[in-house]
Amino acid sequence: MKNRGRFRKYVPSILLLLLFEAVAVVLWLVRDNLFYLLNFSYIGCCLALGTALFAAGKRYTRHFVQLAVGCYMLLYLGVISRENMQIEGFWYYLFLGAFEAATIHYAVAKIFGPLLFGRGWCGYACWTAMVLDFLPYRQPQKPRREKLGVLRYVMFALSLALVSGLFLMKAADLEQIMFRMFLAGNALYYIAGIALAFAFKDNRAFCKYLCPITVFLAPASYFSLLRVHCDESKCIHCGKCLRVCPMNVEVNKGSRRRKNGTECILCCECTKVCPTKALH
Ligand code: SF4
Ligand code: SF4
Ligand code: SF4
Repeated sequence: MKNRGRFRKYVPSILLLLLFEAVAVVLWLVRDNLFYLLNFSYIGCCLALGTALFAAGKRYTRHFVQLAVGCYMLLYLGVISRENMQIEGFWYYLFLGAFEAATIHYAVAKIFGPLLFGRGWCGYACWTAMVLDFLPYRQPQKPRREKLGVLRYVMFALSLALVSGLFLMKAADLEQIMFRMFLAGNALYYIAGIALAFAFKDNRAFCKYLCPITVFLAPASYFSLLRVHCDESKCIHCGKCLRVCPMNVEVNKGSRRRKNGTECILCCECTKVCPTKALH
């Protein structure tokens, strides 16, 4: 029985590995391109290893996964291979009708994957958050400004309008423009992310107020198979989980409708501090 309990905590890691390996093998065979096998196997192994070490109680493993996956995607796929993996790149390849790395990445990590692993992308792989999470405000020092969340939809619409405009104007050398946009967009995200973190005393302020990707991530996350459960009968309402949560999730409620439930990045900070083990 005890062994079964020990094994259970590694189930998410095994599921992640199997999911990414399945995607890797299917895309490799269908697209006849070894890149997909290597790419998704690497990401799946990093995520599985990191989450397994994390479940085993090792510190800093989430940062390790963020750096291993985030740097690979930003530097190798983005800068060296010149694949625009930002939301503008997704629109670009979508309009081209190209089922390339960026569109596949969005489908797996941000549109359908969240049905299984929620906002795991935001907790373990995002190259913007991998930097923001090293800033000094891991626990938000100020209440969340719910109304500012509307800016994410504005950013989403702007990104779509920008790429649509380039297509409508039949801009020359779109490939080069998209690469420059990738570099400039990432620089702006880092500057805005760091400025917002200090202004709001909250490392994840950019995620809460500006990041357009959440428009994709949130709906499927609501139905996520992997999520932090709360056994309300064990909760003594000490509020510790609420204080450490970087995303202001009302995690001491069991319902999927809990406030900011679709914001959970599965960092598990709340489960570590719960004195009654109500969260798992
Ligand atoms: S909300 Fe955006 S910036 Fe934040 S972790 Fe998720 S994808 Fe990255
Ligand atoms: S602290 Fe808990 S509820 Fe908050 S984001 Fe992390 S896992 Fe989710
Ligand atoms: S830390 Fe545990 S006991 Fe305290 S409020 Fe959260 S769920 Fe309840």
